[in-house]
Amino acid sequence: EPSLTQFGTQMSNLTGVRAIMKDIIETLRLGQGQEFINLSAGNPVILPEVEQLWRDCTAQLLASPDYGEVVCRYGSSQGYQPLIDAIAKDFNQRYGLSLTERNILITPGSQSIYFYGANAFGGYTQAGELKQIVLPLSPDYTGYGGVSLTPEALIAYKPSLEIDEAAHRYKYRPDFSQLKISQDTGCVIFSRPCNPTGNVLSDNEVRKIAELAAPNHVPVFIDSAYAPPFPALNFTDMTPIFGDNIIHCLSLSKAGLPGERIGVAIGDPDRIEILQSFQTNLCIHSSRYGQAISAQAINSGALAEISVNVIRPYYQHKFTVLETALNQFMPKDLPWFLHRGEGAIFAWLWFKDLPINDWDLYQQLKQVGVIVVPGNTFFPGLRDTWEHQHQCIRISLTASDRELETAMQRLVKVTQQVYQQA
Ligand code: PLP
Repeated sequence: EPSLTQFGTQMSNLTGVRAIMKDIIETLRLGQGQEFINLSAGNPVILPEVEQLWRDCTAQLLASPDYGEVVCRYGSSQGYQPLIDAIAKDFNQRYGLSLTERNILITPGSQSIYFYGANAFGGYTQAGELKQIVLPLSPDYTGYGGVSLTPEALIAYKPSLEIDEAAHRYKYRPDFSQLKISQDTGCVIFSRPCNPTGNVLSDNEVRKIAELAAPNHVPVFIDSAYAPPFPALNFTDMTPIFGDNIIHCLSLSKAGLPGERIGVAIGDPDRIEILQSFQTNLCIHSSRYGQAISAQAINSGALAEISVNVIRPYYQHKFTVLETALNQFMPKDLPWFLHRGEGAIFAWLWFKDLPINDWDLYQQLKQVGVIVVPGNTFFPGLRDTWEHQHQCIRISLTASDRELETAMQRLVKVTQQVYQQA
């Protein structure tokens, strides 16, 4: 065993969903002949139109005199200029903003923005005070669980639940009676639409969070990995919210480019500069090939167009398939609740008073050939114990219609037995 530093130990922990993924990979590998319906994937589906878009942009780049300049040279750590310009132009037109290049940083995927942000603004100050990284609504993206070098800085808040008993639906709301953003807060992070729940915080909720953070100049990172204009994986109306202390974070991963690692931070120049220095030290810059094809797809309008006309309807249909199957097969007298499907590529199910925990439910589902993700992994930073946290599962909408239907029928059988045997 090599001896490790505190940071070394912290970063080598398998956090959140990565620990589960290890178990899932083993299950699939050792499954000998057993066929599994895998509803655990976070990887987007390769949609033909989307693949074609990136293929076309690549062909254009190959034919262009810029090719050598793009792939054979280092560039600015702030990003490839044509991509920065494309984002500024697109967002200014679309949302009536007045962004300049100083408001924009291109990063290798958006995950890296949360790492820079969590550690530049959260953790111990020079004076030794602990600045917290606040997740205003738990559950949220499992990836926030690993980003801080000082894990004691991460703190998440339980939400309020808005429950429609008759319809077997519910929705999380930020609990503003509990949420504390103060001079001890270093930064705030949340995803909108949310992975894992598909929740979309309302425009007013977002403004309220930003207002709570404003007096202490706390930056609010809004993880827009599923938001409009690309990949536009919102099934309900939502407006991206911008503001002085808001860092709006984009990702091209769910728009078909996860492998090229393209993320974008949009915010005030001072904070963008801090994030950029962090990036220069860490990895210099993102892939220039990825940035060049992204610039083309944004400039031509094709990316926004395919997002709305191909990517969004694809997943929205999957959610309908799942919802219909649950309505049809789930007994009315079981206390199951599906989170409102407002976006992203997942469905989130809560089994109230579940007699076993989410891990055991995950194991029992594996026995019938269905793999989901146990919900407990999506509560990073939550300090309280809360039974709800062991009563949920995440279902990926990346499976085929048929698989989703079959899996929901098996889920119904398993959960029925679980409640009956209690
Ligand atoms: N944020 C959320 C909410 C995600 O779901 C993901 C990926 O699944 C990420 C961030 C990381 O994405 P990227 O590929 O841009 O690093």
